[in-house]
Amino acid sequence: MANAHIAPSPMQQPHQEYPEKVYGHPQMPPQQRSASSQFRQAVAIPNLGMSPAPVDCPACGQRSMTNVSYHTGNTTHVWAGVACCLTGLLCFVPYLMNSLKDVQHRCGSCGVLLATWHKSGVVEVHMHG
Ligand SMILES: [Zn+2]
Repeated sequence: MANAHIAPSPMQQPHQEYPEKVYGHPQMPPQQRSASSQFRQAVAIPNLGMSPAPVDCPACGQRSMTNVSYHTGNTTHVWAGVACCLTGLLCFVPYLMNSLKDVQHRCGSCGVLLATWHKSGVVEVHMHG
C-alpha cells in the first residue's frame, strides 16, 4: 500500500499578498499627429506628383501631407473638344478623368498653394522656400 495521501506541509506558507497593480484600461489618448515627426522624409515641392506627398511647407514650416485638388486645365478643354468632334457624345468624359486634370497641392497645415502638377509632368512651384 503506497501512502497515497500527500502530507500537508508542516509549515503553512503565509499567504503572500502581491500588491496587484490595477492596470485597468488606461485611456489611450488620441494619437497626436506630430507633423514634424510623422514623415521622415519630405518630398521636394518640384518633385511632387499626382498624389499627396509630405512636403516641408515654406510658408508655415510644417511638414505635412499635401491636400490635392484636381482642376480642369486647358488641356482638358482641348480633349473635350477633340472628344466632342470625334464622338459628339463623350465630350464630358475628359471632365470626369482626373488624369487629365491639373493637380494642385496645398499645404496640409496652412493651406497655401504650393504647386500645381500638370499632366505634362511639369510641376509649377507657387511657393518657393
Ligand atoms: Zn503651410
